[in-house]
Amino acid sequence: MTKSFFIDTTLCTACRGCQVACKQWHDLPGVITKNNGTYQNPPDLNFNNYKLVRYSEHEIDGKVNWLFFPDQCRHCVEPPCQDIAGDETAIYTDEKTGSVIYTANTKYLNFDEILESCPYNIPRKGPDGTIAKCDMCNDRVHNGLLPACVQACPTGTMNFGEREEMLELANKRLAEVKKKYPKAMLLDPDEVKVIFLVAHDPNRYHEFAVAKNGAFEMNRHMALRKMFRPLKNITSRLLS
Ligand code: SF4
Ligand code: SF4
Ligand code: SF4
Repeated sequence: MTKSFFIDTTLCTACRGCQVACKQWHDLPGVITKNNGTYQNPPDLNFNNYKLVRYSEHEIDGKVNWLFFPDQCRHCVEPPCQDIAGDETAIYTDEKTGSVIYTANTKYLNFDEILESCPYNIPRKGPDGTIAKCDMCNDRVHNGLLPACVQACPTGTMNFGEREEMLELANKRLAEVKKKYPKAMLLDPDEVKVIFLVAHDPNRYHEFAVAKNGAFEMNRHMALRKMFRPLKNITSRLLS
């Protein structure tokens, strides 16, 4: 059985412990940023930030609400990025954990195509062309540890375990949260292994909180690309 996350944003205090733990575990360097009038820092995911706590302010029912969204790769059940890559030496799904893994061979892929295929706008390109994102802390999980972000979270927002257990927990919390917030919902729970619970309209948290329309329907164009991708990738690697 594959693993899943349950992220209960109603408990998140935006302490950013998860964001820091992710950088620490992956030994990722700091990125210089400028104050742009928000606590959200860095302003977006980047090659050296796989986890980003997004902040947004909205007036809801006459009150100011500060909404927090600890963004990361959703480890899609059928990952469009893996489909469009068509090269399992670059992007593959670990059968044991269900994590979607990017390798050094992602530098041979077309980054724009990979980013466009992602329903959640997650992958980011590095200086050498390699593409990076959250790896579910696959090394930790294989060794019986929790992902670093889950381990660090002090509020119970971040949860991780067997998929059935996480779905059960998510539905239980949804029922509880709905008593106070009737519009609460789980985001794309059947499509992803990182299941968010939000209390309000997901678009208020983040533009890509839910999948872009139709993103999981592989159209004919993508299917054709997928068929020819292995040959194209081998050719580009031989020429590099
Ligand atoms: Fe939110 Fe937990 Fe991350 Fe803190 S560590 S920002 S509470 S998800
Ligand atoms: Fe790939 Fe994007 Fe899904 Fe992550 S969220 S597995 S990067 S398609
Ligand atoms: Fe970062 Fe690991 Fe959490 Fe992914 S699972 S966001 S790689 S700490």
